Amino acid sequence: MKKLKNLFDNNRLWAERTKQNDPDFFATLSKQQNPEYLWIGCSDSRVPANEIVDLLPGELFVHRNVANIVVHTDHNCLSVMQYAVEVLKVKHIMVVGHYGCGGVQAVLNDAKFGLIDNWLRHVGDIKEKHMTQLNAVPEEKRLDALIELNVIEQVRNVCRTNIVQEAWLRGQNLTVHGWVYGLVNGHLHDLESVVTCTDEMADTYKSAAQRVFDRNIK
Ligand SMILES: [Zn+2]
Repeated sequence: MKKLKNLFDNNRLWAERTKQNDPDFFATLSKQQNPEYLWIGCSDSRVPANEIVDLLPGELFVHRNVANIVVHTDHNCLSVMQYAVEVLKVKHIMVVGHYGCGGVQAVLNDAKFGLIDNWLRHVGDIKEKHMTQLNAVPEEKRLDALIELNVIEQVRNVCRTNIVQEAWLRGQNLTVHGWVYGLVNGHLHDLESVVTCTDEMADTYKSAAQRVFDRNIK
């Protein structure tokens, strides 16, 4: 197992199956990619982007990191966004969190894991920003609420990048979405944090965040 033969076996079987379904699949795909979507999601192994929305290779441009965070100085994420928006001309960017996110849970529980605590500090800032309202959420729903809030905040971060701002100034058709994936049933939930232009940013952020508390504070 030193060379992970099982994974290579899986790969060959997958390639064979794919080719049987569409003999031109790899030949066509190797020439170009033309995805309409950029998925910014969590690295969690249970949230595989393409499978969840049942899209084939070539249909989804993907960036994943722990807790699906968009930081204005993260050149990795920003480079993915810039290439996706300016070169591939994707029409949609979706920030996709997931219930049961270990990264967000660590923040909520003040758990310490080392280097990653610095990365998760960005979620810690969101927790502190909404502390008063989060404290009003019943304890059993607080993790869900922070996971949803994190997505809504990251949608706003995406919208605020010069990449998206300039795309909208150019009149490029680009919509930013905020979704959450449910590990227990495989369903995606739309947080209705949909932004298509700069003018919509503030109202969308406010109403989406308010809905989180309306849903979770009963
Ligand atoms: Zn996660």
